[in-house]
Amino acid sequence: MLSVKQLLSATRATHPNIINNARSVRLNFSPAAEVEDDDGDLYREIKAIGRGNTIPREITLRLYGKRGPESLAWVSCTCEWFLYHCEVALWAKRSSDIEYSNGFKPEITNPRMVPLVCKHIAAAFMQGAANMVPSRKVQSKAPPVKKVPEKKATTSPTKKTPAAPAAPKGPPKIKRPGE
Ligand SMILES: [Zn+2]
Repeated sequence: MLSVKQLLSATRATHPNIINNARSVRLNFSPAAEVEDDDGDLYREIKAIGRGNTIPREITLRLYGKRGPESLAWVSCTCEWFLYHCEVALWAKRSSDIEYSNGFKPEITNPRMVPLVCKHIAAAFMQGAANMVPSRKVQSKAPPVKKVPEKKATTSPTKKTPAAPAAPKGPPKIKRPGE
């Protein structure tokens, strides 16, 4: 896993325009949370909505270790640039997961597999995400589901039960510890 500093410097060295564009990204941070992963390691989970000049993007950061630029970072963003340039190259460094892309090596967009971040993630780092202090702790394991005894049907058999609400549409979500 690479540090915030390493991700930013790899991006700056090869795509300085991304760092420049990051300066105009507006971010709306959610309060940071402390989460325990499957291995018992603690990380700071930071989520934000980033607005550049197109539609709002959702970013997720998991920061391990001491606060600041040396924090080890796992990152994810819903933008296309992240999908096509960053995700597989970051996954190879254990700094992301294959979530939005097909997992193939980015032969054309990033053949050297430089661990790049998109302007939304760069903006979050440049605006001090690695220094954020968690304001709440999240349990890694979901609390046990309360078993509610099923009610005996007393209504007439002709009464229709309302249809279940449609599942919310969105990008495919991978189950993560702490969720
Ligand atoms: Zn992005």
